[in-house]
Amino acid sequence: MKGKELQRVKAALLSELDVSLQKYCHQRLKDVVNDLRLRHINVKPDSSPDEVFSVFLQSGVLKTMTAAPIVRMRESLERIRMGTFGLCALCGREISAKYLIQNPTTTRCASCDRESQRLMRPAGS
Ligand SMILES: [Zn+2]
Repeated sequence: MKGKELQRVKAALLSELDVSLQKYCHQRLKDVVNDLRLRHINVKPDSSPDEVFSVFLQSGVLKTMTAAPIVRMRESLERIRMGTFGLCALCGREISAKYLIQNPTTTRCASCDRESQRLMRPAGS
């Protein structure tokens, strides 16, 4: 994935994080960021997605949240840190930027996702 596409994927990930935080923790992303600033963690509301992700990982703030979508989000941030983000967990190929923007926390590429959905459907349908 090219730099520009990756930035768009990260921006999509960040907005999904915002939505998940509101839904499951009743907090806005910017409120969580402001809380971190009160704890003297150097992050600004206009920080880049990378900066926000690394602060979230370092502070462990997502570790206390156990809702499944937040856990998936935390795992995505870990994959960004490890450099494996955007690689399909099944076939190892790069997941397209378009698919990642639609499903920022997915661990499978579009064709593996389709295949696993096909296998999960009961026979005959
Ligand atoms: Zn795949």
